[in-house]
Amino acid sequence: MRIDTEVATGATCPPSGWLPTPNLHRNPAREGLAAARRQHKLGPMSRAPAPLPADIAPLICGVRAGERGVLARAITLVESKRPDHQRSAHQLVQSLLPHTGTARRVGITGAPGVGKSTTIDALGSHLTSLGHKVAVLAVDPSSTRTGGSILADKTRMAQLAADTRAFIRPSPTAGTLGGVAAKTRETMLLCEAAGYDVILVETVGTGQSETAVADMTDFFLALMLPGAGDELQGLKKGLVELADMIAINKADGDNLARAKAAAAEYRAALHILTPRLAEWKPPVVTYSAVTGAGVAELWGHVLDHHRRLSATGAFAARRREQQVKWMWALLEERLRRRIVTDPKLKTRLPQLERAVAEGALSPALAVEDLVAILGL
Ligand code: GDP
Repeated sequence: MRIDTEVATGATCPPSGWLPTPNLHRNPAREGLAAARRQHKLGPMSRAPAPLPADIAPLICGVRAGERGVLARAITLVESKRPDHQRSAHQLVQSLLPHTGTARRVGITGAPGVGKSTTIDALGSHLTSLGHKVAVLAVDPSSTRTGGSILADKTRMAQLAADTRAFIRPSPTAGTLGGVAAKTRETMLLCEAAGYDVILVETVGTGQSETAVADMTDFFLALMLPGAGDELQGLKKGLVELADMIAINKADGDNLARAKAAAAEYRAALHILTPRLAEWKPPVVTYSAVTGAGVAELWGHVLDHHRRLSATGAFAARRREQQVKWMWALLEERLRRRIVTDPKLKTRLPQLERAVAEGALSPALAVEDLVAILGL
């Protein structure tokens, strides 16, 4: 039995627990790259991809079969910092790439307390009741400092956490925001390959992480609270330019009138801005995650957005741009890591940092020095 052939064609998988002997001469990752090279007339790669490691064949199969335990293991591999794990993870993602791309990817942002987890719980449960499979991921920049993420926390999404059609994974905790975003992106692809057709990516209302999430999703939803000051805050941060929809939560009980007033203010504010895309004017809506009023309509707007942008090619263009941005983000992250771990710079970097901090050396000259050492 040639297990990797079956994986590549998406046919039957071995029973779980069965460890196949992979055929190392056939490598879906390598074949994918070869096909891409032919199609785009690229020259030979500077380094041939390594043969498919034996340990990822069962992961490929289990992920494709939608096995949650295997998906969780695959994500752990993607999140690992070990270089050998990273090599395996890159091949795993490349092998699964043909089975990704059809999910709706939605970013959700908002300040703490706005109701992100309540909203995801309500919206996600609505979607699973329609037959969707929903994955909830997170990009939480604070998790890199604290080692733990409060986003995509199962205890805050009780209904969805008990739903077999949902998969919840907190933010990766390692590295810079760029590193965290890259891992979440790869996790998103693994979830898609496992059959999740809606991916909700949660983040907090801080500019950089919002941009990172907007760059990996098709639709960026900004949640706001009814009431004073919030509106202007959003405008200041440039969030309104990033958002594909503004949704004012907690439009229930005594808050209802205030929520409607806030919506009118946002509409007026948006009116004076030129929309990013000719085919989409970001709507401003009110809803209540607690009562469920307006939650189904949130999804209606996501579908409408997809329909309109697909009709003009703008949807595919956004995905293409995101792919290229992702490549650059990975390259920048890789270069940064290479610089901070370079043994030649180990003693030189802190000396230069000190000199720059004390004003004895200009940052530009320090960079010249570093670049010369690296031979760039
Ligand atoms: P997050 O920090 O953005 O994830 O916010 P949470 O989802 O944890 O919600 C913060 C608080 O707001 C909780 O006490 C929720 O019960 C409450 N909340 C969330 N959504 C609504 C809503 O639609 N209406 C009302 N009245 N309260 C809500």
